[in-house]
Amino acid sequence: MWVTSRGFDQYRCFGDAITFDTTYRTNLYDMLFGLFVGVNNHFQSIIFGGAMMRDEKEDTFKWIFKEFIHMVGGKHPQTILTDQARAMELAIEAELPNTVHRWCKWHVLKKAKESMGVLWSKNSDFKMEFHKLVHHMITEEEFEAGWQQMLERYSLKKHPFLTQIYEVRHKWAKPYFRGVFCAKMTSTQRSESANHMLKGYVPPWCPMHLFLKQFEKLQFNRESEQSFQEKRTLLIGVSLKNNLPLERHASKVYTRAMFEKFGEELYKCGAHVLDEIVPRKVYRSTHVDAAAREKWSKVEFTIEVDDEESFFSCECGMFEHTGLVCCHALQVMVHFLLSKIPEKHIMKRWTRDANDVLPAHLVRYQKDRGPPSSDTFRHHTMYTKALECVLLGDSNVKCYDVFMTMMKEVQATLLPLSAEKDGMGLAEREHQNQVLVEEHPGELQVEGGSTRPACDGETSCSGIIG
Ligand SMILES: [Zn+2]
Repeated sequence: MWVTSRGFDQYRCFGDAITFDTTYRTNLYDMLFGLFVGVNNHFQSIIFGGAMMRDEKEDTFKWIFKEFIHMVGGKHPQTILTDQARAMELAIEAELPNTVHRWCKWHVLKKAKESMGVLWSKNSDFKMEFHKLVHHMITEEEFEAGWQQMLERYSLKKHPFLTQIYEVRHKWAKPYFRGVFCAKMTSTQRSESANHMLKGYVPPWCPMHLFLKQFEKLQFNRESEQSFQEKRTLLIGVSLKNNLPLERHASKVYTRAMFEKFGEELYKCGAHVLDEIVPRKVYRSTHVDAAAREKWSKVEFTIEVDDEESFFSCECGMFEHTGLVCCHALQVMVHFLLSKIPEKHIMKRWTRDANDVLPAHLVRYQKDRGPPSSDTFRHHTMYTKALECVLLGDSNVKCYDVFMTMMKEVQATLLPLSAEKDGMGLAEREHQNQVLVEEHPGELQVEGGSTRPACDGETSCSGIIG
């Protein structure tokens, strides 16, 4: 089992929704190879890690999940998508008790294909209807009505596979995913594509040493593609289809791939009529072709706006599910003449700055945190010096190696010395400010964040700066 350092970093930013796919098998050792895959802010599949397995027993899966979480820093994902193995389900319940577990739709479709025989033939009406149920239903009522209609139309009420799969619909059907964040991965061709990727690089008869080498090559190539997407986001201008301020704002915050998806939703607004139910509070969005849609198809959605007008909650649940605002909520935002997407609706993992996620003890240095609430000459000087070294270290591989070696030495020397705190450090000062504000709410106007002006600005409070 392994996780690369890159996988570790990526998990910190994009480890909210993951898939674990075990459909790849190496013939030479007759072992299964499981891949932990996620999706980055450019909507590309990313590999966090992999594991070789001798069997598919519950204890094996337990060990894998436990080790994986340990190796990627301890944070559990919000959602995990897998195939339908019962042993895996039990292992996830035991090791990831707070993670929502769902099945990849892809596996359900594969099973349907195997079980439905002639009904599943190419271009059959049944197949198309089944696909529609799996891909396009938004609400539970829609799904239930559509499912019943399908059973009646094809006289399939007693079909064993359909009965069985219906009983566990909450594990795979889209409407039951509402409110469950899946990073747009439920259409899990994602993990299937990761599997395809692997097959392209590593033939099943591959010996272990070659396997590892090829796996590294695959990861390296994936990273090059990611850099390409990053450049594409930075360099290539976007064309605004709707020319709305909201769209302009989206083009600045989102990556190119996500901006395109945002544009699609904005475009859909044109096909909906908005009714005001309670001014500034409740709205209803109705599809203009309501009459022409299938009878089970939901055409009306209610959108509720909170008191601060900062969150637009739509009953379709798309935002909670994918992190992108749905066309219904967007319609209300446009009606409100908003020039920016409200902050609560911008999920960092889809933005250009998605990789700017630092470990908990360094979180105050994240770009989106703004300037530190307190600053000192001592802190500022060190910070600038460190950044200068980062700039030089980034010149070439040799510089990077020297930088990392020396920084490790500096860190090791400072660690014991730093045990004694003089109370003037940024972290302590921020903590003190917080305590003071909590103890005397309203009394302390913390301008620029500091309640201790004696040490600010140019007044050096340290003798250690060389
Ligand atoms: Zn909606």
